[in-house]
Amino acid sequence: MTKPATDLIHHPYTPPDTFDAPQPGVFKASTVFFKDVAAMRARDWRTKAGYTYGLHGTPTTFTLEERLATLEGGTECLLVPSGLASIALTDFALLKRGDEVLIPDNAYGPNKALATGELASFGITHRLYDAMNAADLAARISERTRLVWVEAPGSVTMEFPDLRALVAACRARGVLVALDNTWGAGLAFDPFDLAGSGEGVDISVHALTKYPSGGGDVLMGSVVTRDAALHLKLKLTHMRMGYGIGVNDVETVLRSLPSLPLRYAAHDRAARELANWLAEREEVAQVLHPALEGSPGHAHWKALCGPADLAAGLFSIVFDERYGTESVDRFCDSLRLFRLGYSWGGPTSLVVPYDIGLMRDASVARWPHKGTLVRFSIGLEDVDDLRADLAQALARL
Ligand SMILES: *Cc1c(COP(=O)(O)O)cnc(C)c1O
Repeated sequence: MTKPATDLIHHPYTPPDTFDAPQPGVFKASTVFFKDVAAMRARDWRTKAGYTYGLHGTPTTFTLEERLATLEGGTECLLVPSGLASIALTDFALLKRGDEVLIPDNAYGPNKALATGELASFGITHRLYDAMNAADLAARISERTRLVWVEAPGSVTMEFPDLRALVAACRARGVLVALDNTWGAGLAFDPFDLAGSGEGVDISVHALTKYPSGGGDVLMGSVVTRDAALHLKLKLTHMRMGYGIGVNDVETVLRSLPSLPLRYAAHDRAARELANWLAEREEVAQVLHPALEGSPGHAHWKALCGPADLAAGLFSIVFDERYGTESVDRFCDSLRLFRLGYSWGGPTSLVVPYDIGLMRDASVARWPHKGTLVRFSIGLEDVDDLRADLAQALARL
C-alpha cells in the first residue's frame, strides 16, 4: 500500500487515448520518462523518432515545427524563443573566428547589432552590402565569407531586392544564404523555390512573433531548412545553447496558425488601401510599400510575389520635408486607433517614427529622402475607421 503523497504522483489511472479535437494536445515537460535503461541509453535527441528531454522537443513542439516547415516549403524546422534568436542561432551555428558574414544595409537593425556586438567579440567580422545591387554583394564576397543574410523587403525602408540575383551571387561562390522571411511569412513567396526557379535560400528564419502568433502577445522564432546536414548543424548549436521555448506559447501559435492566410490577406488588403490613399496626399513625399508602383524594388516584388499577389500589411511613408520632427511626432501622437509600439502582425494598428540617419550606413547606399519616415503596421480594425484616424492626424501636422 502506497501512501497519499505517492498515490497523487504515481496514480494508476490513464485516460483513454481516443481523444480527438481541433487543436493538438499540449504536452509540457522538462523530464521525459524512458521505459527502461536500454531505452534511455539508446536515446537520440537529434531525430524526431522519440523524446529525450523537454528542451529537445515534445509532441506539441514537433507538431508546430512540422507545420512551419510545410508553410515555408522546407523539410526541417527548429523553434527558438524569439525572431532575433533565430538570427542568432543561425550566426552562432555557421560562423567561427576568422569568418565573415554579409548583411544587407537595410536589414532588421538587431541583426547588425549582433554582428557589431557578440560576433565582433568572437573574432567574426561583418560587412554591409547594398541590398538593391547584386553586383555589390558579389564584389563583397571574399574567401572568408561563410554566410550572407538577405531580407525582402528591407526593414523600415521597405526596398524589395532582387532575391534571385542575390541568391545567385551566393551560389556562384558556394556561400550559404539565410533569409529573414518574417515579412513574407511563407505566404507571399516560396523561399526555397523563388518564383518557381527551383533556386532558393538555404535557411529561412521567421519571427513567429509577428503574423503566425497574430496576437501581439507571444515571442517566438523558427529556423527552417531543407537540408538534413545543415539542419543537424543548427540543431547541435540549438541544443548546446539551450534555446528552449515555453509550450504554452507553442500552443498559442498552433491555435493562431490556421487563420494565418486569412489574416495575412486581410492585413494586406487594408494596408494597400491605406498606402494608396496616403500616396495621394500632398503631405506625403513617398509611400514605401513594395506592392505600390514607384516604390523601390516594386518590379522585384511583382516578379516574386505577383503570382500570389500578396504583401505584408506593413509600409512606411516619408513626409514632405516641410514637416519637421516635431510636426511628425504630433501626427503620431494624434492618432487614436494606431498605437505607438514596436513589432507588428497583431490585431492593433501600430505606428513608429524612425530616424533613418541613425539606421542606415550611408557609405553603402545613400538614402535619397529628406523628410521624416513613419512606419505603419496595419491591424485588423475596419479600414474606414483607420483612414479617418489618419485623416484627422494629418490635419494636426
Ligand atoms: C520582429 C522581427 C524580428 C525579430 O523578432 P522578435 O521575435 O521580436 O525577436 C526579426 N526580423 C524581422 C524582419 C522582424 O520584423
